[in-house]
Amino acid sequence: MAAQIIDGKAFAATVREKVAGHVARLKEEHNITPGLAVVLVGEDPASQVYVRSKGKQTVEVGMNSVEHKLDVDTSEADLLALVDQLNNDPAIHGILVQLPLPKHLDEDLVINSISPAKDVDGFHISNVGLLSTGQKSMVPCTPLGCLMMLRDHHGSLSGMNAVVVGRSNIVGKPMAQLLLGDSCTVTIAHSRTKDLPDVVRRADIVVAAVGRPEMVPGDWIKEGATVIDVGINRIERDGKNVLVGDVDFASASERAGAITPVPGGVGPMTIACLLANTVTACCRANGLAEPE
Ligand code: NDP
Repeated sequence: MAAQIIDGKAFAATVREKVAGHVARLKEEHNITPGLAVVLVGEDPASQVYVRSKGKQTVEVGMNSVEHKLDVDTSEADLLALVDQLNNDPAIHGILVQLPLPKHLDEDLVINSISPAKDVDGFHISNVGLLSTGQKSMVPCTPLGCLMMLRDHHGSLSGMNAVVVGRSNIVGKPMAQLLLGDSCTVTIAHSRTKDLPDVVRRADIVVAAVGRPEMVPGDWIKEGATVIDVGINRIERDGKNVLVGDVDFASASERAGAITPVPGGVGPMTIACLLANTVTACCRANGLAEPE
């Protein structure tokens, strides 16, 4: 039987609607408008698209959006000075430095210079530590979006076998922490994993975050499993540029119980979660109750 499609686009729209409601209340009741600053260094085309999209959606939910576009050869000192200025700006509640940064800039240093309270990407080492110890933190947007879709689909994830393919700091590792937090039995697979097909076949939940077009075929998927495809890969097919995930959607959807499409799955949820994190940061900064 064909899998149920988990519609990330529709889900993201409901998340944005809720965010817009919170923003309206913050304005009406407290005269506060949440502000998100996005810093882009250089002219990476994919990053430019993401930053434009983030800015547009930030404004659509009623928040203030500030974009800082810096030259590709911006010095580390100048970038750190900008982050410091944003850290100290009371109108800015969330700061996002778009990755990847040009090679001459130290990503870890820059990310760890963001005030943890304004780190809406959840990449600061303090937030990573808080998440891994089960404390209140800023949760990275992509894994958070995946978790929300899984909870929505399953209700409880307790006791499920989850396999995360990929161990990056921005997707794989925080995803595994979140699944563990929801009491899944979690396996993290990566490029050195032995017998990857067998490992994936044991999973009730598969999260693919690899960056390799359609690497996970349908016959790796356990009958009825839920498949979350984080991958965004641009390939040429039949003379056209198309976006595909890390999972072979056609064959996987024959075996999975539910699956996210690419595009229209994880991608829209990522930006919606960024907006939600910015509202959360704003509420925390002002000592107000956080949205659930
Ligand atoms: P990284 O390149 O940082 O990490 C990829 C991971 O996949 C690594 O841990 C790597 O293992 C593992 N891997 C690579 N090849 C294999 C293989 N053959 N078998 C098993 N594991 C393998 O990527 P990201 O985590 O940043 O991103 C992953 C994908 O998700 C990309 O397609 C990216 O575009 C997409 N993405 C989508 C987002 C969204 O909003 N939807 C947001 C962020 C990312 P090892 O560590 O051993 O090298």
